[in-house]
Amino acid sequence: EGEPVNAAQDRKPPKRTVSLTHPDRLYWPDAGVTKAGLADYYTEVWRLMAPFVVNRPLALVRGPDGIEKPLFFQKHAWKGMTRNVVLVKDPADPGEEYISIRDLDGLLGLVQGATLEVHPWGSNLDDWEKPDMVNIDLDPGEGVSWTEIIAAAHEVKRRFEEMGLAPFVKTSGGKGLHVVAPVKPKAEWPEVKAAMKALADGMAGDTPDKYVSTITKSKRTGKILIDYLRNGRGNTAVAPYSTRARPGAPVSMPLAWDELGGAIGPNYFTVDNTPARIARQAGDPWGDFRKAEAPIGFGGKKQGR
Ligand code: ATP
Ligand code: MN
Ligand code: MN
Repeated sequence: EGEPVNAAQDRKPPKRTVSLTHPDRLYWPDAGVTKAGLADYYTEVWRLMAPFVVNRPLALVRGPDGIEKPLFFQKHAWKGMTRNVVLVKDPADPGEEYISIRDLDGLLGLVQGATLEVHPWGSNLDDWEKPDMVNIDLDPGEGVSWTEIIAAAHEVKRRFEEMGLAPFVKTSGGKGLHVVAPVKPKAEWPEVKAAMKALADGMAGDTPDKYVSTITKSKRTGKILIDYLRNGRGNTAVAPYSTRARPGAPVSMPLAWDELGGAIGPNYFTVDNTPARIARQAGDPWGDFRKAEAPIGFGGKKQGR
């Protein structure tokens, strides 16, 4: 009320034809989020989420009985999967079939299959070998403050910019932040992963009291793991706007850099408060994501100070 009207509110809701069995099943008992509530949430965010989940191989976290019961990390088709979900053969290994979606009905087909988290690859089906985005996952060890995680995100931002990449930030919906950049799909996975490893090793090398870049040191109290391992072929990271199978029904929320601060924690945004956020927002903080893509490697600038 009294807020400027977002043009998006005038748009018709996207077409939706998947019917849900057990719509009242509680997936997040603590937050009161049902299967039908999850489908409604994804219908609301679809317009913003679509570019990050359509036409990519997907891994899923499924939980047929909700977050308090067993969860499955799923990369392949399962029995009873709705026909709105598309199977795609890995061109490098046609024996491997992955899950993919083309539209909102595909995502709702995943909801029908009890999908509680959506984790896309960093490359799309046009060229599986060439990533079109990179992700640096900031994983805080014990005792790391939110202020320190934000400082790490700004340091990754600076290094991305030095490489000629456009950095975007989102909450993980869990404990940390993800710094993501759109990439012109030119370089292949090994080169891109090497560039992200160099970034992580650079941070850990320059500030070893704050940052580590190897998993074996990741349990170190008071330090942040600069996790670059989301950037290999077949590796995934949670999608922007995906829900998380964790208490409170948190979501991974795209932010503007100037929103980063004490008021918004890593799991601040949820299925419950996201519709109000996206209706209120003047713009969508990741709206220019695709337009900002830049090459990594030969064409890009050199990493380092
Ligand atoms: P947090 O902020 O709590 O670290 P996150 O999404 O960054 O949240 P995780 O949930 O620990 O971190 O997952 C890290 C990544 O590893 C996920 O993005 C996911 O794509 C991948 N992953 C998670 N579980 C599995 C699994 N069982 N097998 C393979 N990859 C997985
Ligand atoms: Mn993480
Ligand atoms: Mn991680």
